[in-house]
Amino acid sequence: MSSTSNIVGRFAPTPSGRMHLGNIYAALVAWLSVRSAGGRMVLRIEDLDPRTQSGPWTDRLLADLDWLGLDWDEGPYYQRDRVEAYQAALEQLRDAGLLYPCFCTRAELHAASAPHASDGTPIYAGTCRGLSPEEVARRSAERPAALRLRVPDQDDLAGTISFTDRVFGPQTEVLARDCGDFLVRRSDGIFAYQLAVVVDDAQMGVTEVVRGHDLLSSSARQIYLQRLLDYPEPTYAHVPLLVAPDGRRLSKRDRDLDMEGLRERFGTPERLLGWVAGTAGLAPDTEPRSACELAELFSWDLVRAHRGDIVLG
Ligand code: GLU
Repeated sequence: MSSTSNIVGRFAPTPSGRMHLGNIYAALVAWLSVRSAGGRMVLRIEDLDPRTQSGPWTDRLLADLDWLGLDWDEGPYYQRDRVEAYQAALEQLRDAGLLYPCFCTRAELHAASAPHASDGTPIYAGTCRGLSPEEVARRSAERPAALRLRVPDQDDLAGTISFTDRVFGPQTEVLARDCGDFLVRRSDGIFAYQLAVVVDDAQMGVTEVVRGHDLLSSSARQIYLQRLLDYPEPTYAHVPLLVAPDGRRLSKRDRDLDMEGLRERFGTPERLLGWVAGTAGLAPDTEPRSACELAELFSWDLVRAHRGDIVLG
């Protein structure tokens, strides 16, 4: 389809397993939003973590999106090819005096006493914030450091981030209280998701971010980084999560609801998409429908009407 607006959306899958129904739903809404508005779609493979054997999963992902009829206009871009861009952003933050090395171990961070943010990550207590240069030199000789971004103190308004999510409405996060200083590079040298995603979205011209509700709490950190790096702020829409009939959240381990099982069960993309759309309220019933047919029906009000977790029947 040709684009008739300046809207740019994206798929940003992590190739750590086969797509499951929740991924399909989020990808479908991202695609429907862009296509119904005549915009462009970018595909970016979030393969930064070298521990993941991403090659075979990436091939499957591309084939599955293709089978579903969820096409894209640009990419795939691969995060592994883009580390120079992340490094440049990191240096900009370092030059502004906003980064410091952190030597805390995973066990220290997850200590029972540490308060945790809504996404389960511990709120950083600032343990390594004030280390002297001598202490940093001594510790660096022992083990490699991660890099953290210093967030403004709680009474500094620059650290209060407000935005309006297109599905979940007005959101406010106080960075110092709700997440603390956060990682931009891990101790193994891998750039953190938060930094990579912000650099990528800006450089790929993304104007709207559509993704699962589990990432809602990342948005404040990402908006803060956009402000520091002087990037434009995209719109955010977090879509409800799909849960299995027994209440468990879908994960890439749920083989019954991954693409392999779903393709066997439904046979055609129209049957699968029609069922997902009908269940999630994007269509009046679960009759077979193609992605393009669903684009004719799409509106954000339909997504908003189903804000709770969507339980699969
Ligand atoms: N790569 C993330 C995932 O697959 C999505 C990141 C994003 O949309 O910002 O869950």
